Amino acid sequence: MKPIQMVDLLGQYRKIQPEVEAALARVIESTAFINGPEVKALEQEMAAYLGVKHVIGCANGTDALQIAMMALDLKPGDEVITASFTFVATVEVVALLGITPVFADVLPGTFNIDPADIRRKITPKTKAIVPVHLFGQTADMDAIMAIAKEHNLYVIEDNCQAIGADYTFSDGRKQKCGTIGNIGTTSFFPSKNLGCYGDGGALFTNDDALAKRLRRVCNHGSEVRYYHEVVGVNSRLDAMQAAILRIKLKHLDEYATARNSAASHYDRAFAGMAHITVPERDPSSTHVFHQYTLKVTGGHRDALKKHLEANGVPAMIYYPVPCHLQNAYKNARCPEGSLPITEQLTHEVLSLPMSTELDEEQLKHITATVKSYFNR
Ligand SMILES: *Cc1c(COP(=O)(O)O)cnc(C)c1O
Repeated sequence: MKPIQMVDLLGQYRKIQPEVEAALARVIESTAFINGPEVKALEQEMAAYLGVKHVIGCANGTDALQIAMMALDLKPGDEVITASFTFVATVEVVALLGITPVFADVLPGTFNIDPADIRRKITPKTKAIVPVHLFGQTADMDAIMAIAKEHNLYVIEDNCQAIGADYTFSDGRKQKCGTIGNIGTTSFFPSKNLGCYGDGGALFTNDDALAKRLRRVCNHGSEVRYYHEVVGVNSRLDAMQAAILRIKLKHLDEYATARNSAASHYDRAFAGMAHITVPERDPSSTHVFHQYTLKVTGGHRDALKKHLEANGVPAMIYYPVPCHLQNAYKNARCPEGSLPITEQLTHEVLSLPMSTELDEEQLKHITATVKSYFNR
């Protein structure tokens, strides 16, 4: 059996290696390393894939969130509602900009932000909602867009984990996740579903004026070189990464199919097991399985993780400490105990290996090892 990894990037590379090598040589020979035709082509191809008017490349997914908030002119004193059960990036950029992060709890089945709790957290200072489409599944955008409309709030979708997922509204309309709010953001970090071979990120919007502002913020607040209209940042996607992403974008749906097939294998193996809950599927969204995350109850999570690792099966806890309990972001408004579902999940979640390259033999070994823990 091939050794099992959380993500098998080398196996995936082998299948596209000649194409990638040719693309890299092409970029080097062109000497257009920053922006230029590769980045433009990727932006256009992604826009077509997502069905969105504008895609704007930037340096990473964290920058994308920061640029979104700067372009929307969010200011110190403004409040942004987001999930605490997520990667820290959102909270970090909110804090860097002097904005106040306000945490909402998540739903216990999908792990996504709970619209009812968003409602409870709205104050006169609230300016934006940042739903994170966690682990590959769209948050409840029907409800979130309705709340935003009612209270005149911006919506920035953190789509670093769910690129390619389809969302179906209650009226039957379908849209790609990340193109629904005012701005969507993504990361091309290597282990993401659409990952490059370094850092990268992008922003999506259907709003022409906002697209202009986003590009300006990315480029030192400048539209005409050496004339600076607003405070900006230097955040660019480089051409080598764009060339790699153009190749991988063509395979993205096929990658999602491979991830779903691994997920189905896991589902079947774990059906009916005590102490194991497989990830809930929201019928409004397709799932692209950035992570396949179990809930392990009965206090077995940490011991099961050790058992897996002792038997050659890596497993990860996403996330062990929620943002509101991190030393950097603790605050009196959101003390321990105030987000009960989030806090409970940090004790129960366990993500199994998930990648486009898992084979039958590896999947069987993983599921057999989970079962052997409970049958000791
Ligand atoms: C990965 C990730 C980010 C940050 O992306 P980087 O490219 O690493 O900066 C932000 N939010 C979520 C939910 C992520 O998973």
